[in-house]
Amino acid sequence: MEISQRGRRTTEERLCRNNIIPTLKDAVPGDLSLVFPHRIMVDIKEMLLALDKVTPGIASDETLLYGVEVKFYSNKVVVNSDFETSVLGLRAIGDGASVTRGLQQASANGISVARSILSKLI
Ligand SMILES: Cc1cc2nc3c(=O)[nH]c(=O)nc-3n(C[C@H](O)[C@H](O)[C@H](O)COP(=O)(O)OP(=O)(O)OC[C@H]3O[C@@H](n4cnc5c(N)ncnc54)[C@H](O)[C@@H]3O)c2cc1C
Repeated sequence: MEISQRGRRTTEERLCRNNIIPTLKDAVPGDLSLVFPHRIMVDIKEMLLALDKVTPGIASDETLLYGVEVKFYSNKVVVNSDFETSVLGLRAIGDGASVTRGLQQASANGISVARSILSKLI
């Protein structure tokens, strides 16, 4: 979530001073320019300025903008170099464990862990 037009990061402190109270209570204050490409930010600001002519006040310095942030690989299973987890006998590999991000990596990861298991059996 970011306070529009000022182009600076919204913090909890700045949000407390803002006259507009967030409607989305779960939203985390942040900096949308780190989420959206520059061109998108410019377009949003242009849109707000245009809308302001129809609904004066919408381009206010205190208007809050919300952005959705999706992290696909944020949860990573902690494994050692043999892909062993802290649970004895349980290994985590592939995309599901965020160890890999593609077919070739996942395939190589499978071979690697198979070799590791074999070496411990012999
Ligand atoms: C649409 C799409 C296009 C892609 N294109 C490319 C590409 O062009 N090039 C590239 O390198 N990568 C591509 N990828 C990524 C690639 O598919 C994955 O990186 C790769 O398949 C990961 O392999 P994996 O073995 O880790 O997981 P997966 O291939 O997802 O295998 C996991 C397996 O576990 C099974 N499973 C899940 N839960 C359970 C359970 N509870 N019990 C038993 N089995 C279970 C699933 O059915 C699945 O068969 C693409 C992915 C998608 C979705």
